[in-house]
Amino acid sequence: MKIHEHQAKQILARYGVPVPPGEAVADPIAAADVARRLGGPVVVKAQVHVGGRGKAGGVKLAPTPEDAARAAEQILGMEIKGLVVRKVLVEAAADIAEEYYLGITMDRAARRNVVMVSAAGGMDIEEVAATAPEKIARVWIHPGIGLADFQIRQACYEAGLNREALPAAMRLLRSLYQAYVAVDAGLAEINPLALTRGGEVIAADAKIDVDDNALYRHPDIAEYKEESEEDPMEAEAHRRGLQYVRLEGDIGVIGNGAGLVMSTLDEVKRAGGAPANFLDIGGGAKADLVANALEAVLLNPRVKGVLFNVFGGITRCDEVAKGILEATGRLDVRVPIVVRLTGTNERDGRALLQGTALVPAETMEEAARKIVSLSR
Ligand code: GDP
Ligand code: MN
Repeated sequence: MKIHEHQAKQILARYGVPVPPGEAVADPIAAADVARRLGGPVVVKAQVHVGGRGKAGGVKLAPTPEDAARAAEQILGMEIKGLVVRKVLVEAAADIAEEYYLGITMDRAARRNVVMVSAAGGMDIEEVAATAPEKIARVWIHPGIGLADFQIRQACYEAGLNREALPAAMRLLRSLYQAYVAVDAGLAEINPLALTRGGEVIAADAKIDVDDNALYRHPDIAEYKEESEEDPMEAEAHRRGLQYVRLEGDIGVIGNGAGLVMSTLDEVKRAGGAPANFLDIGGGAKADLVANALEAVLLNPRVKGVLFNVFGGITRCDEVAKGILEATGRLDVRVPIVVRLTGTNERDGRALLQGTALVPAETMEEAARKIVSLSR
């Protein structure tokens, strides 16, 4: 889950990362009030879940409270990469001499968290990584040992940070790592890490993505969730407790087990169709859950057909069949439904579906072919 810069800064501050004082507000008058209270030049920053706000005009320096109000007026309501700005962060402006980059993320290929440090901060780090990868120093963190002090020194020296900034930058990297681990982040990034003309080192920007599967351990962070930024159909499916991802096509896909569902998506494509969603009902699904899942899939008006692909292990095929019948009885289903049931209690399951409008299929390939032709 993405969180806003001001929220990430609050978290980082708890772990000892110096951040400028400031506050997020939703209107220009409040922005001026914050600027007055801070008493000096401020920077007004769009709070949206995307990067590149600076380039898009979502970050403005404001020397006076009146300027802060004007900047907030301009930025609030602005659209950045499709997201509407509803809040701005007003914080004390840093007098920046140099901009660095600090980041920690999961390197899946290495199966370790990786620390990245660069003296080429401020700009788009993806671009630096693509055009001048040697400008980013990297160290990989052993999961048992954690981030060692020598690795912090290695990364910061190798990146060529200014000597003056080194001690503070190294302390700050330690704090960033503590925060990364503590909140179960998948990404924690400070870009730019600013060396000010006064010789201070502070986080001028901050970004943290928290692992969705760990949110139950962080109720305070879970509260930052903003449904308005989520796809409304995904939001509804998630409210219903379903593992659902919306896709571009028009064939609803429901199966048990993420691997099986992904294979089914491939199979639908191979048969010339385009899946409308991924939906995993998991193991041991009962009739209720199946009905709930079908309902969620049919909320997407683009869906022209639904494919059930269920491999009965702990999930019993007769339970799934009952769920499909219950849902089709309750809902006004106007699209074809192909059902492939195999495994535990498959005979009972198929018998239940006989004489109904549901189209049976023996194999996954056959099921995909049938639903693609029926939904044309
Ligand atoms: P992003 O574009 O979404 O990554 O937003 P940032 O917070 O990184 O801001 C973009 C750029 O604005 C930074 O690289 C800085 O050059 C500039 N900036 C941000 N905050 C300040 C500040 O407090 N003082 C100064 N002088 N520049 C700032
Ligand atoms: Mn930035």
